[in-house]
Amino acid sequence: MVGAAAGAKTVIRRLTQAAPDLLVDARRLADALAYLQRFSASPTGTTRLAYSDQDLAARVWLVDRLVELGLNVSVDLGGNLIGRRVGTDASLPPLLLGSHIDSVPEGGSFDGQVGSMGALEVFATLVDADHTTRHPLEFVVWANEEGGKTGSRAIAGEVRPAELDLMTASGYTIGEGTHRLGGDLSDLGAAIRSPASIAAYLELHIEQGFVLDRRGLDIGVVEGIVGIKRWTLTVNGFANHAGTTPMDQRQDAMVAAAQMITSVQRVALELPGRHVATVGRLQAEPGAPNVIPGRVTFSLEIRDLEMRKIDQVFQAIEREARQIADETATTVDVEQFYESRAAPTAPRLRDLIEREAVRLDLKPLRMPSGAGHDAQSVALLAPVGMIFVPSLDGISHSPLESTTPAQVEAGSNVLLRTLLALDDERA
Ligand SMILES: [Zn+2]
Repeated sequence: MVGAAAGAKTVIRRLTQAAPDLLVDARRLADALAYLQRFSASPTGTTRLAYSDQDLAARVWLVDRLVELGLNVSVDLGGNLIGRRVGTDASLPPLLLGSHIDSVPEGGSFDGQVGSMGALEVFATLVDADHTTRHPLEFVVWANEEGGKTGSRAIAGEVRPAELDLMTASGYTIGEGTHRLGGDLSDLGAAIRSPASIAAYLELHIEQGFVLDRRGLDIGVVEGIVGIKRWTLTVNGFANHAGTTPMDQRQDAMVAAAQMITSVQRVALELPGRHVATVGRLQAEPGAPNVIPGRVTFSLEIRDLEMRKIDQVFQAIEREARQIADETATTVDVEQFYESRAAPTAPRLRDLIEREAVRLDLKPLRMPSGAGHDAQSVALLAPVGMIFVPSLDGISHSPLESTTPAQVEAGSNVLLRTLLALDDERA
């Protein structure tokens, strides 16, 4: 049906300009965002836990909206809601755009929701303009982003069988919750999508930090989602009487740990780059005011866009720690306990996002994402691009989370224009 007539129209349009200069409807976008806020278990901000009745009701509302827009609606095995629009070239794989609508308990009304409603508005704008893209398009709302990115990890084959029995904040296990949304993860292999089935994925999201807001910028061109490594450092000294052991005879694990923690800060500041290093947990044993600590354990977390850089920073910190141990007559054991790989966005998509932002007279900044996103797993299958809009005062996961209607509009226009530019590329 979409075939000849729509195809001819697109060809005519293509003769006059590469991609139409479309803009989203700011009022319709703001209305959709406000309407979505109704599906909440808390009066302020948003509580829409993954798999909860509110999550379900919001999805039912969205299905109606997608059907009105003429999309072919389905739910995949991971519980992801998908709306498909055909393109003029059936041989091309689809371009995906979307985000998530689930929230943390007592969360804000922008995290995930800006990107979901922004993507919905992009579809509405295309339908209004009667513009058919070359690629098929897929609108996607991922399942359970806040509770472990289940939907996006499912399509990338990252969900482990044991996860299905994990209890989520809504009172349903991940397996049960996926069923509630219309998915089924009993066969994890069947939920995996082939890389050939996605041309690219674009996600609009709030920054959840204060870089854009403080610098008065409009658009974050996300360079990738940072990788994370975590270690436990155990400092072994000698526990002894705090009253009878002279100061120059001590093997005080706490004193050594304190110096090591200070050195984490110093080394991280001295090395060039945008890595961050944090000691967030500390425990002293035996933990009595009158005993010299014999054993102190603390955590070390390092994040960067490059795993290699994380290792470099770690090696410098470890060297210092061993030297401090020597100087304080203690020993230090280091054990890694967590790793999350970095997910760089596609350089080609960064360039397009930046170019389209500048064309819209917006001020972009290339930046890493310190928080995790669904795009992280989709990046295993296809090129991904992420667009950030400012978060007021950098507040997120709180009812105080806020982004102005104009900022949401600007981000959605960048999403729309980037999509059109990408669709137009002959590569
Ligand atoms: Zn989010």
